[in-house]
Amino acid sequence: MLVFEDRFTRYFPADTATGREPRTVQNALYARVEPEPISRSKLLLWSEETADLLGLPAAAARSDAVRDVLAGNAVVSGSVPYATVYGGHQFGHWAGQLGDGRAINLGEIGDFTLQLKGAGRTPFSRHADGRAVLRSSIREFLCSEAMHHLGIPTTRALSLVGTGSTVVRDMFYDGNPENEPCALVCRVSKSFLRFGHVELLAQRGEMDLLKRLTAYTLNPSDPDADATTPEAVAELFDRICRDTATLIARWMAVGFVHGVMNTDNMSMLSETIDYGPYGWLEKYDLQWTPNTTDAEGRRYCYGNQPAIAQWNLSRLGNALYPLIEDVEPLQNSLTAFNQEFHAGWNRLLAAKLGLSAEVLQANPLCYQQLVHVLSAMEMDFNLFFDALTRMAPQDADCSNTESLQALLACSYAQTPDPAPLQEWLQLYRKLVVESALADRGSSMRAVNPVFILRNHLVQDVIDAAHAGDLQPLQDIFVRLKTPYADAADDARWVRKCPPESMHRAGCSMLSCSS
Ligand code: AMP
Ligand code: MG
Repeated sequence: MLVFEDRFTRYFPADTATGREPRTVQNALYARVEPEPISRSKLLLWSEETADLLGLPAAAARSDAVRDVLAGNAVVSGSVPYATVYGGHQFGHWAGQLGDGRAINLGEIGDFTLQLKGAGRTPFSRHADGRAVLRSSIREFLCSEAMHHLGIPTTRALSLVGTGSTVVRDMFYDGNPENEPCALVCRVSKSFLRFGHVELLAQRGEMDLLKRLTAYTLNPSDPDADATTPEAVAELFDRICRDTATLIARWMAVGFVHGVMNTDNMSMLSETIDYGPYGWLEKYDLQWTPNTTDAEGRRYCYGNQPAIAQWNLSRLGNALYPLIEDVEPLQNSLTAFNQEFHAGWNRLLAAKLGLSAEVLQANPLCYQQLVHVLSAMEMDFNLFFDALTRMAPQDADCSNTESLQALLACSYAQTPDPAPLQEWLQLYRKLVVESALADRGSSMRAVNPVFILRNHLVQDVIDAAHAGDLQPLQDIFVRLKTPYADAADDARWVRKCPPESMHRAGCSMLSCSS
């Protein structure tokens, strides 16, 4: 049922050495390496939507042969498994060669590449085991599908397979190692190429390969190295700048924090990629990050994401420079990132508030005051906009007491002082009237989700899975498919982060090993 092509491996040169020994891989884009078999594979979750993308029949979910491939226990004909080599800037510093240390690509089906994350050691695993623990695999599977259903570009997840074995992990690198169950996620994307792939080739001066990589990015079905003219490469960079700007604006609009925006975690397709210590803004705080590894510097906190994306793009621009040899178009594209981000963010913010974009832009005080309301009153970011949306059709100016109470209920403060909110509402009412939007409620709903994959919800699901109960995992997977609609069981899913979860491991505290 799984019929692979090997376009990537045929187009790019392979490392001449084989095997899993850690090594430097040069003048090649990948090393051939097969997944390491596992003992007892069990299919834990399957995305029908992703299977549809690949044209797989419904029976694939029940097929032992398919499960064997997705467990890394079988390699079918046409599949030439490989791990790619890339580098990257980690926390602002050049880290040299990194590569797929725990991801093995199986090949393409149609336009898509399938990649097993947690499939065992590769030449890029350094001294790690190449495995992924169940908790991080659940988090990756659920969030990639949740992002898709929110309408945000992302790599997809096809399957989650339990391995029946454990590995030792020290979750917070604090001297408390534990045995944890493992799992594999089959990720699906049109390309898993990252900024770091381009950076490594440029850094090493491997110009022929850099051209090939660019040609492949421009046209994966028929790459032509001669087509990588300075104009074409500049255009490619410009597209990546604009698409990344749109992506980040959409992250910001739903309060998503990636957590590790290193350049090796930035997709050339401007998709969300590599779900590690991600989180969703609950109590509004521009400085918030779910990543304990980044707790001190807060480099990758919510409010920094646009600036970091632009910095990462400047690294990519540097790497592409040898193919363009002109700084001006690169600088123009980095400026375009800013414009595109602000335009996208303003458009989304106006839609979230149910105001016309022109009216919002002409009244910058509205956003400034809102930021003050959200932070001073410790508002839950998504619940606040949800409450605003619910009152929109019947109470366009939010003037009745019930509306005010609903907004106050989104605060994490014990007894929130309503004054900043009331002051903001006065201005807001005026702008709602001025905007005079028809269908205000439904257009607000289209950008203000009801359901958010909050870390504490995922952690509860993970705890249940560790105890052998997979039902909550299946339930949340159903719920995340319609994030913009109410559901019968929302008392279970739609609520503030409970106090006991605010500082619980896995909820607000996650490390890179997550
Ligand atoms: P990440 O922080 O997940 O983006 O990973 C950074 C680098 O570490 C990448 O090259 C990964 O492939 C590698 N890596 C992370 N976890 C493991 C692991 N368990 N085994 C091998 N390599 C890993
Ligand atoms: Mg990564």
